[in-house]
Amino acid sequence: MKALITQQRDYFNSHTTKELRFRIEQLNKLEFLLKSNEDKLNEAIYADFKKSAFENYVTELALLYHDIKDAKRNLHLWARKKKVPTNLPNFPASSYILPEPLGVCLIIGAWNYPYQLSLAPAVAAIAAGNTVVLKPSELPSRTAQVMADIINANFSSSYFHVVQGGVEETTELLRQKFDKIFFTGSTKVGKIVYKAAAENLTPVTLELGGKSPAFVTKDANLKITAKRMIWAKFLNAGQTCIAPDYVMIDKAVEQKFLELAKQEILNAKYAFEHDNYLQIINDDNLERLEKMLVKEKIYFGGEVDKKTRYFQPTLMKDVTFNDAVMQEEIFGPILPVISYTNIDAAIHEVNQLSKPLSCYVFTGDKNIKKKILTQISFGGGAINEAVMHITNPKLPFGGVGKSGIGAYHGKSGFDCFTHYKSILDKPTWLELPIKYAPYSESKLQWMKRFFRLQ
Ligand code: NAD
Repeated sequence: MKALITQQRDYFNSHTTKELRFRIEQLNKLEFLLKSNEDKLNEAIYADFKKSAFENYVTELALLYHDIKDAKRNLHLWARKKKVPTNLPNFPASSYILPEPLGVCLIIGAWNYPYQLSLAPAVAAIAAGNTVVLKPSELPSRTAQVMADIINANFSSSYFHVVQGGVEETTELLRQKFDKIFFTGSTKVGKIVYKAAAENLTPVTLELGGKSPAFVTKDANLKITAKRMIWAKFLNAGQTCIAPDYVMIDKAVEQKFLELAKQEILNAKYAFEHDNYLQIINDDNLERLEKMLVKEKIYFGGEVDKKTRYFQPTLMKDVTFNDAVMQEEIFGPILPVISYTNIDAAIHEVNQLSKPLSCYVFTGDKNIKKKILTQISFGGGAINEAVMHITNPKLPFGGVGKSGIGAYHGKSGFDCFTHYKSILDKPTWLELPIKYAPYSESKLQWMKRFFRLQ
């Protein structure tokens, strides 16, 4: 690991990665490699947890292709020197900000969207002119292998390299000195990463999780709400960091919503044989999810098949904040429904939990929308929609509090891997004496005038 990082640091110090032409070439190369290996990428992710070619394209590859296109199209704007006004005490001078790459970057990926969560930060790091060590999650082992095969065979290890492994290898990587660590995963491991980064004062972006609520008020369009909510929840079999974790619904429409939600699940025909439903990633997670079920509270679903790691889309009702399902992020296909009679009390309950990564509001009521948006702190979200905000690269994506530090996608991804160097550039043809000793009353008066005027 040490040799790899030394190699990358030497390469970064050769300044090659800083050239815009070089960055564009690497993005083109990555795009070509992904497109020409789509079959392999599809096979690997299907073998890992039955993710179909359709979902692999829509939720992983399409986002990567878009990120690459966006970076190539805008790089000349993002990377250029930005002029800013100069204040009066510095007259005559020009002031500008120079974006510069941070250096050698470590990217640690999570398993649930194995390609997107590993490669989207890598695209941003490359666009910003850095070198990259990528450590994908080891749980979907075939996707980790196919990324290592493709990248390590086609990029020099001194520039972009995939290191495979789990806790042991990541711990060893975290002992090294990086210029940036970008981590996607659990809050628990996020703390380990943050502590390791502090040792070298390495800046971090932490993309973590949490329990994302979805509010449904009594005047919401219930049919559309159920349709969008069920799609967002059971996509990837609920293994999505921004999936609606639980529903907070006005008691007046709870029963109607449950009926419509059940119908939407039936309409979607979630099943492996239809290629629209995924396995739970491993036995540990299947068992963890099973423990959240309370038989009497299951409104629909609840079937589990250990052999195939199938977990039926499940709706739970009459749930309270004391139930097992409300004690941690679900990260699986269980949707608990909690009813409220008073929106202020509901907001208060949600605010007792850690700040979530997302929050959704299904409503036609402008006042409730405003209330939730101003009274609950969360990473990002949507109104009358769920999950889809992640697809807009103009919306920085990240958490707040325990759901994360920093944000990426589009220009904000470039910013994650960039230092903005501020420069005051001054000619020598004029030299005003007033800042220099010996000080005098008249110099002080001039100074006051200058600072007042700026
Ligand atoms: P995880 O924290 O278990 O693992 C993430 C990465 O950390 C993996 O690469 C893993 O190998 C490594 N790792 C695990 N334990 C480690 C340790 N002790 N020391 C060092 N490295 C270690 O997370 P996960 O199970 O892969 O993903 C699930 C979590 O990630 C959920 O909480 C989910 O909400 C969150 N998530 C967040 C986002 C986001 O964009 N904010 C996206 C996907 C997932």
